[in-house]
Amino acid sequence: MVRGTKLLTMCGMAKRDGKKKRQPGNDETLPSGSIRVRVYAGIDPVTNVARYLRETVPPGPDQKREVERVKAEFIAQVRAQRHPRTDATVQQPPEQHLTDAKLGFKTRINYRSQAEKHIIPCIGRQKVRAVDARITDAFYSELRRCRDHCNGRPQVQHRTTQQHDCDERCRPHVCRPLSESSILYIHQILSGAFRRAVRLKCLDDMSRA
Ligand SMILES: [Zn+2]
Ligand SMILES: [Zn+2]
Repeated sequence: MVRGTKLLTMCGMAKRDGKKKRQPGNDETLPSGSIRVRVYAGIDPVTNVARYLRETVPPGPDQKREVERVKAEFIAQVRAQRHPRTDATVQQPPEQHLTDAKLGFKTRINYRSQAEKHIIPCIGRQKVRAVDARITDAFYSELRRCRDHCNGRPQVQHRTTQQHDCDERCRPHVCRPLSESSILYIHQILSGAFRRAVRLKCLDDMSRA
């Protein structure tokens, strides 16, 4: 979308008009005259419910400016959560985290298997800073669609990946969602790894300053 806008601007077909851009939030004027600011903060991966940052601004001479200030702050908050300033791909923070963090053996095995089965194939090549609410929403809904991330076409799930004669254990694949506990676990991996990526970037900036 951003690229499209830029192209249009370059061709002189669209004017830069900030007012016409869709805002990532909406305001509601209450009967009291207060304005409720609401900014979308992504789907909560655990409860599967949309999260919003909310604040009510009372009426007054500065109301309009205050609304803009609150909104800008919320948008920056959401962006800071979703767009750590780093060039790493999603695959790298979990890898780094796995190497450096003092994880127990069992945790490490579990962590690696979740990363290999779900995180890397689905969003491993995304840049960490490009991962926004839209991408994580799509990722979590994919985890709830099919734990095998099949392409949605009918196929046979064979009993082994070795050469074999098919028997009754080879059955048509049926999509099953990943369990909620695994989704929660993956969410913890990602948020831990992302926090770490942000922290490392901060340290990096500090050491260069
Ligand atoms: Zn088979
Ligand atoms: Zn499937």
